[in-house]
Amino acid sequence: GGTTASMGISLYPSDARTIEDLLIAADTALFKAKELGRNRIAFFTHTMKEQMDKELYLIDGMRQALLKQEFYLQYQPQLDVNSGKMQGMEALIRWKNPKLGFVSPAEFIPLAERTGQIMAIVGWLLDASFQMMKRMMDQGISVQHIGINVSALQLRETNFADKVQQKLTYYKIDPSLIELEITESVIMNHLEETIRKLTKLRQLGIQIALDDFGTGYSSLNYLRLLPIDRVKIDRSFIDRVEDDSVVQAILNTIVTLGHSLGFRIVAEGVEEEAQLQSLTNMKVDTVQGYYYSKPLDAEKLVEFARESLNQNR
Ligand code: C2E
Ligand code: CA
Ligand code: CA
Repeated sequence: GGTTASMGISLYPSDARTIEDLLIAADTALFKAKELGRNRIAFFTHTMKEQMDKELYLIDGMRQALLKQEFYLQYQPQLDVNSGKMQGMEALIRWKNPKLGFVSPAEFIPLAERTGQIMAIVGWLLDASFQMMKRMMDQGISVQHIGINVSALQLRETNFADKVQQKLTYYKIDPSLIELEITESVIMNHLEETIRKLTKLRQLGIQIALDDFGTGYSSLNYLRLLPIDRVKIDRSFIDRVEDDSVVQAILNTIVTLGHSLGFRIVAEGVEEEAQLQSLTNMKVDTVQGYYYSKPLDAEKLVEFARESLNQNR
């Protein structure tokens, strides 16, 4: 506990020439100060200026992106380890801007969170994801779920569950086909509030996956409190699964504990046969990664699903 103070400093006229820009510069420095840890002072620097200019450019670009239909989704298959068949998929947002080219979601989503622009993106994201699921159902392709990434701000919105419910009704989609992916840090930052919200969503029949597990607090003790269906083990572990015996011990514990709590375990970022083998031995339920498939455009995903589900094994 305790109060801490951070400070961001910008100077006239070297950093900016108008009051507005000076404030933005100071704010950028403040943000940096906080990023570096509490109780710090940071001066606005030239590198920050470059970063700020880029961010302002991205922020401006995002304003237009929805209107100009520059966002689209790709889908990455998730496979059942036992049957080897496609089980579900994760929707991943893509942004192609004529001037900036492809911008990674790892870059623009956190920015959209800071500016609040994420709220406008979410409505689009839910529609696009639900439409994809509907399309697959109409074509007789039965996968178990589509995973949708939910960011911090959007989960904190009071009527998020209602928004999801409305769209489920509109598209006539069974709630169990929707899996919302929430990161560990989002849950831990507002534990009680998040548990309440997730419980409500689960009561609607929606599935919840704990994303990036192992990167944040990763408290095994908290795991039992969380109203979730699946645990997605972060890629950073999978990287080291073959040759690091400590990582192997940790993963074995996560799988055993997760299963005893009734959760299914997903491994993400599986790139190699040997990794798949280790994870299979550990009784991981589902795998996702380049080994099977990169994220795919809608048409390719439908093809992948058809082939995967028709194969006889
Ligand atoms: P994430 O949710 O952990 O998504 C998994 C990321 O790992 C994706 O990157 C995916 O392309 C990548 N990946 C999958 N398999 C492999 C593999 O075998 N090897 C490697 N090296 N990478 C793999 P992507 O699409 O660039 O997304 C990055 C992050 O951006 C996501 O991490 C998620 O936090 C965020 N994001 C993406 N789409 C959305 C969205 O629609 N909404 C929100 N709120 N966030 C999103
Ligand atoms: Ca995810
Ligand atoms: Ca993840």
